[in-house]
Amino acid sequence: MLQGARVVYDRGESIRDLLADEIRTRRLLTVQGAYSASWSVGPAEAHAALRQAFTPSAPTVPRPDSTLLRVLAINDFTSVRLDAGDEMQGTPVSNFNFGRPVIAALNALGIDAAAIGNHEFDWTVDTLRARMAEAHYHFLAANITDTAGTTRPAWAEPFSVIQRGGVRVAAIGLALPATPQSTSPRNVRGLAFGDGARAVRRVLPQARAAGDYVIVVAHVGAFCDGDGAAAPLGPAACHGEIVDLARGLDSGSVDLIVSGHTHSLVNTVVNGIPIVQARSSGAGIAVVDFVRVSGPGGARREVRARIETPFADRVRPDAALVDALRLSQASVSVITDRPVVRFGAELRRTGAEYGLGRLIADAQRNVAKADVALVNNGGIRADVAAGLATYGDLYRVEPFQNRLMRLAVSGKVLKQALEHAVAGDGPDAHVAGIVVWYDPGKAPGRRVQRLRLANGKDVDDDRTYTVAVGDFLAAGGSGYAMLQGAPSGEVGVTDLDALIQYLAVLRQPISAPDDRRFYREGGSR
Ligand SMILES: [Zn+2]
Repeated sequence: MLQGARVVYDRGESIRDLLADEIRTRRLLTVQGAYSASWSVGPAEAHAALRQAFTPSAPTVPRPDSTLLRVLAINDFTSVRLDAGDEMQGTPVSNFNFGRPVIAALNALGIDAAAIGNHEFDWTVDTLRARMAEAHYHFLAANITDTAGTTRPAWAEPFSVIQRGGVRVAAIGLALPATPQSTSPRNVRGLAFGDGARAVRRVLPQARAAGDYVIVVAHVGAFCDGDGAAAPLGPAACHGEIVDLARGLDSGSVDLIVSGHTHSLVNTVVNGIPIVQARSSGAGIAVVDFVRVSGPGGARREVRARIETPFADRVRPDAALVDALRLSQASVSVITDRPVVRFGAELRRTGAEYGLGRLIADAQRNVAKADVALVNNGGIRADVAAGLATYGDLYRVEPFQNRLMRLAVSGKVLKQALEHAVAGDGPDAHVAGIVVWYDPGKAPGRRVQRLRLANGKDVDDDRTYTVAVGDFLAAGGSGYAMLQGAPSGEVGVTDLDALIQYLAVLRQPISAPDDRRFYREGGSR
């Protein structure tokens, strides 16, 4: 830790694991047992000045107008509020507090039940269970078992019944079957994430018996062509895992599926089952009304679904909620408000390849001193505005705290990784230190036509190259199974810190590199 000091102990253990072991040994933690003062500040005036320096001034909370009387006239209907998972990852206020403020906010919003998203595991099952204990609602997943597929962990409740205004709603939860590939594998060690349709079928008789309505809340997604915000699109317009799942159920056997994970707008009816997804991060709210309509053949039930867009600039912040989150906000604002660099222009994540992605890849290659860097686009989570960027702004770009790794892989494996990067419609990754020519008209796995390294040489199948990646990819995440098990070393920084280090030495204001690294070849577009 001290610059220039001799390293006397380094076995590469994680501090978090050491802490967890210590807590396990002690079982009961007391202040007396852990606290010893190693320094103090004096005199009293200096102490006061120090306190002031480290205590951020309270943010100003907009006061609501003074209202003498407000009458809300609403129809006498019943509502339930559901969330399709991935609640806690991606904002500094949540991540620095391990999701606690998000649970507080969702409690305040009156959520009744939520699916267990893949990112709910980002800080281990223990952390998830601590958050579950704080939630006033149920976290649900009918498809989580041990790896033998026989026993369900006690915290993974398959369904729960919400009683509201004389109506019973049975909500069945589903986790993403690909969870082990979408979070750090060690966080879900010992767990299996099974087929969604099979899991729903298994608990459906029980859920049907317990509820007047059965709703599946699934952290499983889809994409639709066309705008289904106002009314459902036809089933042919939508494709993806949740659509396939609905086809795998008996027609109309559940009353609604609330979908998640793909951050997309979904509003369709498949196999007699309405499916909705309200984008992500509060950018949409799916409103689904079950309406009893009387007609010539007697009363029947109609389902009316739409996706509303809440415009944040048109609403006043809820004072009670702002107040509840004030402490969490203040605890991170000293870190997140720190100015880091200045950008000359806005950097948006548009098109197959973009400047922000190249910049991140360049940073990782540079800091890791590797031949090549590979960054999956799924890990680049926000755009950057022109002008001054704070730590918080950059944190939103790379929120996952991936540890930067330097792998040693053969040219053959490097090529396989790049084949995976171009297996979809276009490149799904950014690279540095290499230029890729690929032909999307060829079958996936045979698309890479040529690779040229920064030194101008081609990639040799049998030579060894160093590749900088985040530990998520090194562990085989996002489908990069070929990287798993490669000889690796820790660079000693997170992906975000690598970016900040690299940006700090560039000339400011910073402009992103515009040299292309992926070239399409062949007849097809
Ligand atoms: Zn997800």
